[in-house]
Parts: sequence; C-alpha cells; structure tokens
Amino acid sequence: MYDIVIVGGGPAGLSAAITARMRGKTVAVISNNRTESGLYKAVEIGNYPGLPGISGAELSSKLSMHAAGMGAELIGGRVTSILPVGKEITVGYGSEILTAKSLILAIGIVQASVFPGEAELLGRGVSYCATCDGMLYKGKKVVVVALSPEAEEEAEFLTSIGCEVTTVKTKKIAVNSEGAEGMKKVVSVTADGTDIPCEAVFILRETIAPGSLLPGLETEKGHIKTDRAMRTNLPGVFAAGDCTGAPYQVAKAVGEGQVAVLSAVDYLAHLEKSQ
Ligand SMILES: Cc1cc2nc3c(=O)[nH]c(=O)nc-3n(C[C@H](O)[C@H](O)[C@H](O)COP(=O)(O)OP(=O)(O)OC[C@H]3O[C@@H](n4cnc5c(N)ncnc54)[C@H](O)[C@@H]3O)c2cc1C
Repeated sequence: MYDIVIVGGGPAGLSAAITARMRGKTVAVISNNRTESGLYKAVEIGNYPGLPGISGAELSSKLSMHAAGMGAELIGGRVTSILPVGKEITVGYGSEILTAKSLILAIGIVQASVFPGEAELLGRGVSYCATCDGMLYKGKKVVVVALSPEAEEEAEFLTSIGCEVTTVKTKKIAVNSEGAEGMKKVVSVTADGTDIPCEAVFILRETIAPGSLLPGLETEKGHIKTDRAMRTNLPGVFAAGDCTGAPYQVAKAVGEGQVAVLSAVDYLAHLEKSQ
C-alpha cells in the first residue's frame, strides 16, 4: 500500500510527487499518456518562472524525469474508479487496482460534460472501463462511446468475450433506462438521434468528471471544491491544479500540488498517531 496515490501526471501531480519523496513518503502517480495532455501540446510556456520559452513537451519531460528520479512510481493508465473504504483508498485503472492511505486528484481541466442519464445509471449499465466491467455483459449487446485513444482496444476486448459491440464516436449521447426508481437499468443509447438497444454502455473519455470518479466528492461548476490547504470534503482526499479552478496556469498547479501533498503528509501523521 502506498502512502499517497496521485491521479494525473501534469505539473500539479508531479510537483506533489516530488515533495512527497522529499518527505520520505511512498508515492505512485497514475496518469494517461502525457503526450495526449494539453500541456504537452503547448508550443511555448511563456510565464513559468526561471524557464522562459520552454515548450510544454520539454517541461512535461523534465517534471516526469524529476519525479521518477526522486523515486516516485509513474504508472501509465486511466483511472476509472476510486473507492475509499475505512482508512484505505482503492484506485482502479484498466484492469488493475492499487491501494493507498491518501489520494491527490490532479486531473487537470475536466472538459467532459456528463451525458443525460449517465450519472444516475453508473454501475447499472453505464461503465467507464470495459476490461473491468465487461464480463458482467458477456455475450450481450453493448455500446462503446469512443472518445479516447484506448477505446478501440476496449471495444476489441468486448468483442473477444462475445459482446455484440456498436461503436459510436459522437458526443450527442443520451442513455435510456427502464425500471422502478432505484432499480433502473440501461436499455438503449441514443447517439446522434438514433436509438441503439443495449444492456450496457462503455463511455471511454480521456477524463472522467470528478464526481463520477469519486462519488460523494464535492464539486462546484465542474471544479473540485477545496479549502486553502487543498483538502476536499472527503478525509484523506486532496486536489490540486486546473481541476480546482482558474487560473489555469502551470505555476498555480505546481504550487497547489505542493500544498496538497504537505496536507497529505499531515493527514498521514494524524492517521499514524490514531492507530
Ligand atoms: C495550448 C496550451 C498552452 C498553455 N500555455 C500556458 C502558458 O503559457 N503558461 C501557463 O502557465 N499555462 C499554460 N497552459 C496551461 C497549463 O498547461 C495548465 O494550467 C497546467 O498543465 C495544469 O496542470 P495540471 O497538473 O493541473 O493539469 P494537466 O497538465 O492537465 O495534467 C493532468 C493530467 O491528468 C491526466 N488525467 C486526467 N484524468 C485522468 C484519469 N482519470 N486517469 C489518469 N490520468 C488522468 C490528464 O490526461 C493529464 O495528463 C497552457 C495550456 C494549453 C493547453
């Protein structure tokens, strides 16, 4: 079990990882491929102090090398679920899980708006991970909403277990259900105005809205709510960077990453004393 797990390997997450190692904590950073991130595509970061004119790609490589060199474990993958149970937090990515005592969300701007029906049917036919939940729908009709690079691979996995897969690439999606309140199940997906009957829909985006990733997490206008110590409303869960709100800037992300990890270190000290 790690002391700290960080979701998101941008400036906020990697800054947190570097300070975590300075404080002697075990830390894993799970992140999508950094070449897909907005920072990586920035031709020039003009205002990061001390590094005038550095490209986003170079800054991103330097931060990764720094964190890895300090002993942070950098893991490639998309986190699809987070479950705090007691004093442990379980993080699911692909078909893997890991556990930690504390968590920092540094997932950047979440541009994804939630589709109608998506939030209330999560776990009732809506899933963000085919390799995790696909077996529940073995041999059934399923829809893959392919909005991330790994969607093709996930659709192939579903076909390999006998699912009848329809892949759509549109963002004009609604998820339809039948059944009594609390027992509703997915019966179809409307994609670009066409109804596709199915028992499950796998929505594969680069990013997942924070409230769907971690149920119970307080958000405001799509951003994760924190106090000045970057604490969220959930014990042991902190957030940093663009995901907490504007200004969307590297310097702010790096600073918040450091504040978040120092708060996580305090939290771990209290946890240890209470045991
Ligand atoms: C074109 C462009 C130019 C910019 N120019 C400047 C500039 O000149 N100066 C400046 O200060 N800022 C600039 N920015 C903004 C800057 O890039 C961001 O403010 C900064 O990168 C935020 O860092 P972050 O760590 O919060 O998020 P990000 O850098 O977005 O990193 C978050 C990472 O988390 C990953 N992630 C998200 N969800 C998951 C998940 N569920 N599982 C796994 N990984 C996940 C994302 O894929 C991403 O790699 C620019 C941005 C762009 C796009």
